[in-house]
Parts: sequence; structure tokens; C-alpha cells
Amino acid sequence: MARTSNKLKFEPEIIIFDVDGVLVDVRGSFHQTVLETVKFFTGKRVTVQELHRWKNRSGFNDDWRLSTAWVQSLGGKFEYDQVKRKFVEIYWGQNGGGNVAREKWLLPHATLRRLAARAELALFTGRVRAEIDYTLDRCNVREFFPQIVTVEDVKRPKPDPEGLLKILNGRDPSKSLYLGDNIDDAIASQSAGIPFLGILPCNSPRRTLLRKFGAEIILADVRELETRLTRVMANRRSRASVLPRA
Ligand SMILES: [Mg+2]
Repeated sequence: MARTSNKLKFEPEIIIFDVDGVLVDVRGSFHQTVLETVKFFTGKRVTVQELHRWKNRSGFNDDWRLSTAWVQSLGGKFEYDQVKRKFVEIYWGQNGGGNVAREKWLLPHATLRRLAARAELALFTGRVRAEIDYTLDRCNVREFFPQIVTVEDVKRPKPDPEGLLKILNGRDPSKSLYLGDNIDDAIASQSAGIPFLGILPCNSPRRTLLRKFGAEIILADVRELETRLTRVMANRRSRASVLPRA
């Protein structure tokens, strides 16, 4: 059986995170909203498994686009703008009481503080600015991310590497790390020359796809990242201690 090392081999200077599915559990918010939107337009009850089949394809990182394509594939004669309007309505609800209230921030403040002390942290997300602002403020985590690139800050969205290159701003891609959960994250990372770390549940079939597109390491949860980084440092120290003295 082929063995994968699953070891991080370096200490990154910049750690860039995708947001949804990595830092935020969006099963109750974005995923649920896609299902409700498709049901609204088609009258059909669609499943999370079907949603993941869509998400396993490149180009469907954008939930508005995905919902529109899904509605149309089921025979719904509705255009992008109509589907997007309904999606936004279900997601935000009245006074923020929609599905947005069901999202969960995953990385504790203490961990973020320690990570921010050892590397520059940044966000590259397919969200629009209003969506990311809401989450960062509600969870009180904005201070940890000096650079935030949303879909509105780039000309070409993922899988184009534009957002990642913007964050690097000429710095060495091999000293940074991008964490994502989607095929387009992996493709963008590969195009930018940035090592990619996947975040996906152990039973996700998307793990094979991410490996195919360059993910050397896949963790089940972003909360495992710090341990991996600490191990890198420990390995470095133990290697240094056996070097012959000059
Ligand atoms: Mg994501």
C-alpha cells in the first residue's frame, strides 16, 4: 500500500486560509442555504451528498453559481440573478436571523494568537466582503488577519491564483502555506507555487481529488494545524542538536 508521509516539512512564514469549510463550519449556513434555494425553485428535496458531488467539480466554489446550475439542471428556468436574490434572502434572513446565524467559527482565539505570533496570517476567500466582515466581527477575530482578499478584491476568482499572489506581494511562495477544502483552492495554490494543505473530514471522497491536485497533507480539522507546526519545530531542534559542533 502506498504510504503518504502526512508531515509538514517546513515552518511557513505566511499562512493563508480559505474560510468556508476551513475556519468556519458552514454546513448549517451556506450548505443548508443551497439546499433550501434549490428546493424553493424546483420543489425537489435535494441532499447534502448531491451538494458534495457539485462541490467536487472545479468552478463550483461559488454557491450562487452552484445553486443556479443545480436549479437549471433540474429543469428550473431561472437565471443567476433570481437564484442569487433568493439565496441571499435565505442566508441573511430578517435581521441576521437566517442561516448565517448557524455558522460556527472553528479556531479558538488562544490558538489564533499563538499562530499569529509565529507566522503572518491571511485570508483568501470566495466570499464577498459583507459576508466575511459579518463573521470576522461577530467572532471578534479580525485583528489576527492583516490581509484579507475576498472575491470582490480580484479580477479573476479561484481557481485563479490572483488572490494568493496579491497576498504574497512578491514574497517567496515556497515559504507560505495555503489551507483549503476545495478543488479550486488546490488548483489556485498549485498555480501560485504555494504548498497546499487540505482540510477535509476523514471520510470525504474529495480527499483523493485534493491529493491529485497537489495536497501533500490533509487534516480532518484546522485545529490540528498547530500541533503539526510544533512538530516541525521539534524535528528541526532535534536535527540541530545532532549536528557536529564547529
Ligand atoms: Mg472552502
